[in-house]
Amino acid sequence: MKCNFSFNHYKEILTLAKDKGYKSTFFDEEIEGRQIIIRHDIDLDLDAALEMAKIEADLGMKAVYFIWISSPFYNIFENRYKNIIMQIVELGHEIGLHYDETSHICNSREELISYIDKESEIIKIYFDLDIKTVSFHRPSQYILNSDLKCGKYINTYSKRFFKEFAYISDSRGIWQNGCICCMLNEDLPEKLQFLTHAIWWKEKSLVNQERLKGFLQYKLRKMSNDLSNNITIYNKKNLIVKENECEDYN
Ligand SMILES: [Zn+2]
Ligand SMILES: [Zn+2]
Repeated sequence: MKCNFSFNHYKEILTLAKDKGYKSTFFDEEIEGRQIIIRHDIDLDLDAALEMAKIEADLGMKAVYFIWISSPFYNIFENRYKNIIMQIVELGHEIGLHYDETSHICNSREELISYIDKESEIIKIYFDLDIKTVSFHRPSQYILNSDLKCGKYINTYSKRFFKEFAYISDSRGIWQNGCICCMLNEDLPEKLQFLTHAIWWKEKSLVNQERLKGFLQYKLRKMSNDLSNNITIYNKKNLIVKENECEDYN
């Protein structure tokens, strides 16, 4: 088994977890024995998230996909991404809220919960999905250390899931202490929260900078197609975006 960020290795990881007796659950399920909660914070790439959702469903596993409603990288209301979100749900997974603390100015916990409510309500109205769980995007020290109670929402950074569960993440496209495989082969914690970011995973494993570059090229191609589908005077050949033309955007 070769450790990398390919979909194939993702499948191997989940198969290993199953073989070791882990059962995948959502955050609101309490079970006896080995439990793995697979969490996806969707910062950038909903297309890759769908591929991961299919792999999980094929193995009879479930996961929670946290969507960021104000993401600058995808629009959840766009047909393409709305359909992807609904496909993820149909595969048996849960949609949670990926909440960005910088989106609203909050002076109290109550105010923070009211914004979480507001964003969850938007998802409820548009997708008819009930949000039960919230994960914070680039969480502040306050979120990481305060065991914050979020009203009716489960906080993935609460003490229970962040400290009492073993926690492993692929943040920045690297493993801090080795691939999750090692943990599944050696430590075998009874309770495990496994966080992934779909942006790092792909059919063929890439180092993080290459993966980001590929993503940027994909977005340029997509924007070009969207322009030609919506703006009749747009001529793809005349408007090839060169890297240095983006420089004054800061
Ligand atoms: Zn591995
Ligand atoms: Zn995030």
